[in-house]
Amino acid sequence: MVDIKKAEDAVRQLLEAIGEDVTREGLIETPKRVAKMYSEILEGKDEYASEHLSKVFDVKSSDMVIEKDITFYSMCEHHLLPFFGKAHIAYIPSDKVVGLSKLARAVEVYARRLQLQEQMTNEIADAIEECLDAKGVLVVVEAEHTCMTMRGVKKPGSKTVTYAARGEFKENQRLFSDTIALMR
Ligand code: ZN
Repeated sequence: MVDIKKAEDAVRQLLEAIGEDVTREGLIETPKRVAKMYSEILEGKDEYASEHLSKVFDVKSSDMVIEKDITFYSMCEHHLLPFFGKAHIAYIPSDKVVGLSKLARAVEVYARRLQLQEQMTNEIADAIEECLDAKGVLVVVEAEHTCMTMRGVKKPGSKTVTYAARGEFKENQRLFSDTIALMR
């Protein structure tokens, strides 16, 4: 939970530190707005992906499920700047599947907190493997990091791609690369 009062004070102090006049019209409400915004974009910290992923259906199938292009917005914990992009998820069920919207909700839970892309990719894969008892999970995340593109280290629009493979996707290189091709 974000301590709104403390966050407001901190934003006010930051504005002062960067030489702003916190009493000028455009900034009067800024500490309050930023504090409220943080509580919204970081709300995943108080949530559990298992709440969404435990709503499973029994199926007699172990055919791969792919959910592509799940849009997400997250916050880089090194710079407190957004990184955003798409997550693609593939899993091989062992008689249990989950509603497709639940996969997107699980991504949200891990995106809406201070994050690192590599860590988020792994957390999503672990949650799906655990909750669904899946035979294999592959998560691909591609994102633009504004901490890189805004500061000119990388060209705007450049993407960072991370992978997390579990179970059969880890053991079977062919399956891994065929599935990556399907996700593109
Ligand atoms: Zn960063």
